[in-house]
Formats: sequence, structure tokens, C-alpha cells
Amino acid sequence: MNEGRQDILSRLKRVVIKIGSGVISSDEGLDEVMISRLTEDICDLRDRGVEVILVSSGAVSAGRCSLGIEGRPQTIPQKQAAAAIGQPRIMRAYKEVFKRRQRVAAQVLLTRDDLSNRRRYLNAHNTLDTLLEYGVTPIVNENDTVVVEEIRFGDNDNLSALVASLMAADLLLILSDVDGFYSGDPGCDEQARLLPLVERITPEIEAMAGISRGSLGTGGMLTKLQAAQKAGLAGVPTLIVNGRTEGVLEKVVQGQALGSLFLASASKLNARKRWIALSMQPNGKIFLDEGAVRAVVEAGKSLLPTGIIRVEGEFGRGDAVHICDRHGDPFAIGVANYTGSELEQIKGHRCAEIESILGYQYKDEAVYRDNLVLIRDTAEEIEV
Ligand code: GLU
Repeated sequence: MNEGRQDILSRLKRVVIKIGSGVISSDEGLDEVMISRLTEDICDLRDRGVEVILVSSGAVSAGRCSLGIEGRPQTIPQKQAAAAIGQPRIMRAYKEVFKRRQRVAAQVLLTRDDLSNRRRYLNAHNTLDTLLEYGVTPIVNENDTVVVEEIRFGDNDNLSALVASLMAADLLLILSDVDGFYSGDPGCDEQARLLPLVERITPEIEAMAGISRGSLGTGGMLTKLQAAQKAGLAGVPTLIVNGRTEGVLEKVVQGQALGSLFLASASKLNARKRWIALSMQPNGKIFLDEGAVRAVVEAGKSLLPTGIIRVEGEFGRGDAVHICDRHGDPFAIGVANYTGSELEQIKGHRCAEIESILGYQYKDEAVYRDNLVLIRDTAEEIEV
């Protein structure tokens, strides 16, 4: 039987709490009352010995009013300017409450690059770990003022999932401005109902996430679902609740039936595989024949050049690639032992032929099993 809400909560030692813009923003910028309420609740959690890493949005909406922008800024420079004004404001608001409770908070700003580079990833881990060791609450946000499109997370739902994976949290708790995950848009669909428990993210569930609610946040339900999927792959369950509910954290910890709980996928990945699956940025695709798909998925084998039928993308040795079936559906992410152009030459060939084709040979395997992570739940889903 799958573990339920009570099991998850009974072993809650470390939680990543993501607070959405819609929860802590007001028409004037920041909703300081909400920030104060939630921070008090976070301090209560810390007093019970639960480690909290906060991922807080709200920088852009806290800064936009000073630029005279109504609604959400549209251009990237506008967002960056607004974030530059808003980020110190949200930090000040949080810090004041932490200080009142004799606690210390720290700002950690990340870009996607910081987590895709292995050395910087480990560095970020060490920084957060040290802060927690000293009883400090890290407050993470995307480094909005400097990021360019190629290195952006873009939304804090996905960022919070990566942080939950990075820190091997027991739970990712997303505080949203809606009550949870609905089967439709509750604003216009009377049949829409809240799903209290999602055991597996199926294509049907994915289709439900098409609806997007909330005007100040970035992602709507789609990015929350992506976050739950990513966290789940890393072995971390996700709970989406309404952050404006009075005493929400206490209620969650007590196990009250709030929001939508997404269970993690059964297998827990080790730290290195979590990094490969979630933080590396795949920049190529390898297509396999049916036999190779089976060898990888069912027999847990490494990937050999002989099973490759097509290669797409300019990737280097050590880069991450999507590993796909012959139709191009990705079912794994792996680290390539050869460049895209080398694999193009040796695809379909036996290991013994590699050296005569390339003039050299690094390895027999195109991707080592240890460097490969399955990203789908079950083998049955893969069309062979
Ligand atoms: N980093 C953005 C901010 O602080 C939020 C992104 C999001 O809404 O997910 O405003």
C-alpha cells in the first residue's frame, strides 16, 4: 500500500515551503500581514524541530508598484527592474518577523545554471545545509535581476521542486492562492472538484492542469504539476494548499485534510541521480530500437551504440540527453559518453567496431547505467 498523508507527516524533519506571489501580494505590493502570519507559523514549525527552507516569490509584484506598473510586468527588463526593487522588500518583511522570534533568515538567490553545474549544485547544497545546521531559515528565490532566458527557471514552482530534491526534503509544501489541484477550472466549471490525493500523475491528470488561475503568480496549475512530478521523481511528495487559510501550517502538520497531496514515485533516487534527472539540462536526444528500450527499462542495462537508431542535437561528452523510444518519446535522461556527432557515426554498430569507425574508443557504452535515470513510472507505458 502507498504511504498516506499521516506517514509523510509523521516523519517530517525537513520541508521546502514555496510561497506564491498570489499569497503574499496585495494591490499595493506586499501583504505584510500575510507575511507576518506565515512567518510566525514557520517559526512555530522550527520550534518543533522541523527544518524549513522557504522558497518565496513576490519580488516582482512587491517592486512593480514603485515603477508605476499595474498588473504583471510584461517585458523581462521590467520584471528584472521590479524584482531588484521588490527582493529587498520581501526579505525585510520576512526578517523583521524572524527577528521578533529571535531567529535568523538568509537570502539565497539561484539561477538554473547554479543547479545544472555539478560543482555549483554541490556548493548550493553545502550553503543551505550549513544555514540549516546553524538554525537559520534560508529564503530562496530566483536571481531575477540577472537571469537571461536561457538560464531561467521562470517560475518558483519548478525551482522549489529542484530545491526539495537538492536538499532531500521530506515534503514540498506549495502555498498557493487556490485550495489545491482541481479536475477543471472551478471558476467556470461547476463539475470541477478538488483532488485530495494524486497517487500517480497520469496523462488524464496532466490534461486537467491546462487551467491556470491567479493573476500575480507565474505558473498556474501547470507549473505546480510539473513541480509535483519533479519532486516525485526525486522521492519527495508534494502538497498543494491554500496559503491564505488561517493557521495553514499548523493544520497541515496536524494532518487535516487540506489541499491536494501528490505521492512520490515508488523508487527513491540517490543524490547523483536526482541531480541528473532534475538539474542537468538535456540538450540532445537518442532514439533507441525496441530491444534497446527493453534492455534499459526491463533489464536495467547500460545503453550500447548498437541499439541507437537516431541521434538529434549537438551535445558533448558528459552532457545530458533525453533517451527516447523510436517515436521520440523520452523515457530516460542520461549522461552521454560520446558526443552527438560521434554517436551519429557509431549508432547501430557493435562495440568492437567503435575503434575502427572513430579511430579511437572511450567506452563500450554510449550511456552508463549509473548515469541513466528512468523518468516514467512503469515500463508498460513505453511503446515498444
Ligand atoms: N521569482 C519571481 C518573483 O519573486 C516569482 C516567480 C513565480 O511567480 O513563480 O516575483
